[in-house]
Amino acid sequence: MHHHLSSEEQGFFSAVQSGDFETVKEILEYNSSLIHLSTVYDRSSALHVAAANGQIEVLSLLLDRSVKPDLLNRHKQTPLMLAAMHGKISCVTKLIEAGANILMFDSVNGRTCLHYAAYYGHSDCLQLILSAARTSQVAASWGYSRFVNIRDGKGATPLHLAARQRRPECVHMLLDNGALVCASTSRYGFPGSTPLHLAARSGSLDCIRELLAWGADRLQRDASGRIPYMVALKNHHGACAALLNPSSAEPLVWPSPLKFISELNHEAKALLEHALMEANREREKTILKKTGYSLPSPSGSDSDIDNLSEASDTELCCICFDQVCTIEVQECGHRMCAQCTLALCCHNKPNPTTACPSVPLCPFCRSNIVRLVAARVKTETIKTVMSTSQSLENLGGLGTRVREAAVLRAYQQ
Ligand SMILES: [Zn+2]
Ligand SMILES: [Zn+2]
Repeated sequence: MHHHLSSEEQGFFSAVQSGDFETVKEILEYNSSLIHLSTVYDRSSALHVAAANGQIEVLSLLLDRSVKPDLLNRHKQTPLMLAAMHGKISCVTKLIEAGANILMFDSVNGRTCLHYAAYYGHSDCLQLILSAARTSQVAASWGYSRFVNIRDGKGATPLHLAARQRRPECVHMLLDNGALVCASTSRYGFPGSTPLHLAARSGSLDCIRELLAWGADRLQRDASGRIPYMVALKNHHGACAALLNPSSAEPLVWPSPLKFISELNHEAKALLEHALMEANREREKTILKKTGYSLPSPSGSDSDIDNLSEASDTELCCICFDQVCTIEVQECGHRMCAQCTLALCCHNKPNPTTACPSVPLCPFCRSNIVRLVAARVKTETIKTVMSTSQSLENLGGLGTRVREAAVLRAYQQ
C-alpha cells in the first residue's frame, strides 16, 4: 500500500493529467506497472485522470494497453462517469466504444453516468449515453425507458437533476427520450418533488417551460403538500411563480399522440416544437405583463415581421388564413400551418368511452393522420424556402380561441 507517491509516480500522473502523450509513453516504457497505479487520496487510476481531464490521446493509449474501461475509484466512480461529469465528449465516445458499462452506480449518491451528464448539463454526453443505451444490452436487459428513468440513491431521475440544476437542453432531451415528467423523488430535494418542483426551486424559466409543454402537472403536490407554485414563491422566483400559478392560463402541451410516434418526421417535429414554444412564449408574455414581471427574452423573435409579406407567394393555411403551410399530411397531401396542426392534435384527447386513443383526422378529407412531414414549398427556390423558415420564426401566439373555432369548424364539415 502506498502512502506517498514516488516522484516518478507523481511525474506519471501529472503527465497523464496534462495530456503529455510522449512522456506518458516513455515512462510506461521502462515501468509498465505504473499503468495499474492509483492515486493515494481518491484511488483514481490513470484512466480516471485522463477521462476527467479530457486527455483523449492518453486515454486511448491506456485503453490500447488493455486497461479495463470500468475501473473504480474510492467513490466507485468509473472513468466514464468522470468524463460525463466534466463534459469530455471525445473521452465519453472512446470509453463507450471500448465497452464501458453505462449501468454502474457510484457510492456517493448511487448515480450513473447518465445522472452525471444531466446534473452537469452536458447534453452532448447525455445524447451519446442515450444512444449507447438504445443499442447496448442495457436496452435488452433493463429496457430503454427504465434506463432513461433510472433513479439514484435518493430516488432522483436524471430529469430531476437536470431540472434542479437549470439544464433546459438536458431536460428537453430526456423528455424526448421518454423521461417521466411527473415522477416524484423519494428523498432528493424535498421528498415527493417532481421535476417541476425542482425547476421551481432553482428558478429556471426555461426548464419550467419545457416541463409544462410536456404536460407537467401544476397541481401535483410534494410530500409536504406543496405545489410547484408555492415552491417558486418561497424561493422568490416571481416570474416562475406567475407561470406556475394554477390560476394563470394553461400552457399549450405537446400533444401526447405526437410524443413518441416514430412516424413524425424529424423536420416536421422541429417545426411543430418551434410553433408550440412560440405559442407558449406569447402566453408567458401575457401572464407576466399582468403580474409586472419581465421576461428575459433570449432571441429577438419580435424583429423582422415584414418577412411575412415576402412569404405571401407561398401557400397560406386554409384553416386560419394567417400562417404559411409548413406541415403536410403525408397520406393525403393536405397542408396546414404548424400551429393549426398542433391545435388539431392538442384537442384530440383520448375518448374515454372507447378507451383507445383516437388518431387525429385530417380536417380536409377526414382520413387518419399517420405521418406528418414538412411541406415542401411548391416553387422550390432557395429564396422561398428561406422566407418560409424565417416567417416561422415570426409566428406569433396561437390566438387559441380563434383558431380552435376554425379547426373545429373545419373538423365538423
Ligand atoms: Zn393555420
Ligand atoms: Zn387530407
